[in-house]
Amino acid sequence: MGEMLSAARRRLFDAAEADGAPAELFEALKYPQETTAISLPLRRDDGSLTLVKAWRCRYSDHLGPTKGGLRFHPSVNADEVQTLAFWMMVKCALLELPFGGGKGGAAIDARALTPFERERLTRGYAEALSHVLGPERDIPAPDVGTGPTEMAWIAETYGAHFGRAVPHVATGKPPVLGGLDGRAGATGDGAFHVLEALAGPLGLGDDAKRIAVQGYGSGGRRFAERAAEVGWTVVAVSDSSGTAFAGDGLDLEAVGRAKDEDGEVSGAYGAEAMEADALFDLDCDLLVPAALGGVIDEARAKDLRCTALLEIANGPVKPEADAALEEKGIAVAPDVLANGGGVFVSWLEWVQGRSQVPIPAEEVADRLKTRLTARAEAVAEASRELNLGLRGAAYALAARRLSQAIRAGGADAFSGVGSNDD
Ligand code: NAD
Repeated sequence: MGEMLSAARRRLFDAAEADGAPAELFEALKYPQETTAISLPLRRDDGSLTLVKAWRCRYSDHLGPTKGGLRFHPSVNADEVQTLAFWMMVKCALLELPFGGGKGGAAIDARALTPFERERLTRGYAEALSHVLGPERDIPAPDVGTGPTEMAWIAETYGAHFGRAVPHVATGKPPVLGGLDGRAGATGDGAFHVLEALAGPLGLGDDAKRIAVQGYGSGGRRFAERAAEVGWTVVAVSDSSGTAFAGDGLDLEAVGRAKDEDGEVSGAYGAEAMEADALFDLDCDLLVPAALGGVIDEARAKDLRCTALLEIANGPVKPEADAALEEKGIAVAPDVLANGGGVFVSWLEWVQGRSQVPIPAEEVADRLKTRLTARAEAVAEASRELNLGLRGAAYALAARRLSQAIRAGGADAFSGVGSNDD
């Protein structure tokens, strides 16, 4: 087992232990259920051949078909894919969705591919894994390096393989192909609802107003815009090219223009340009990592100058940094809750695909707000009840639901077997 997965599992098992979880949970979730590794031949536009390593992991389907994104990034590896699948399992359980956890990835820089190369790679992936995927088996969605177009290619390739239209084999599709209008902003919207529900437990009083967001992509940008609408001051945002900073608050329209037109936030009108990592040194109330995982290690945690963290990225805080954050009194709204809006709306898209009954945008927004707020409040309550941090409490709640599912299909059915006197 890889180091990353082993550390992630420890976090869940520690919280489950503190909550008195049954022994069966630890046994049932010890290893991923199924990981498929493939090597995909990718024919480049110039006629040359590149062999791309790719994976799909279904960590656990105790609560339903496995669900999770598809990542195209050069750093993808088997340990990361399995860990991301594990976190999806925790997230779906915490949000009380009828899904298990899955994830996929290919070790390639999607930005270095032409659109035709990306199409060949994505279709090749879907074809090679057509026996793993399925609307009742394993359902991909966008993640870093993939988006609605890749999901459209997956749904079409899968459908062609089985000779029928199966749009709900993937979520996050373009709306005209069965996607939901609200899916693109769902992760940022969900994170915003979590912030509203958890401001108190995060130690953010009425005068806390300064936000810094690392990663101005689909999740981070939407979150920053929602927070600014209700009076938060976004003092800094970054992308891989650099940071845009303004002590009195950024003009987000100018930042959006810079991102859309030049692909870089750091050139935004009226903002001071800084190195990408300079964002972590800034004084702020809330720091929001919304790029890649593992960006806050122990050394960086010790130097942070914020009151709280809200994790839109998956796994931005390395487990080794947990103690340093606790010592500094920095509370964390954990990824499995804070970025759960994406998978929640994916579930609605899947329901719409199965039923063929459209779900209006207002209903999507209302249901997202209601569910994310309720689960955030449940996490805050469990944190008080169990005397655990918000991450521990979120994990304990997820473990409770997983335990119930595991026992309902096993231990509960057989309790008493062998002790019957008749
Ligand atoms: P995205 O590709 O749209 O955006 C990522 C952003 O991060 C880009 O602006 C990129 O420039 C920036 N970035 C990359 N390296 C950086 C660096 N070193 N410093 C600063 N910025 C950097 O991706 P996304 O969909 O917004 O996903 C971001 C994170 O959120 C990922 O960890 C993903 O797994 C997680 N997440 C996304 C969703 C979703 O629905 N989009 C759902 C759950 C979790």
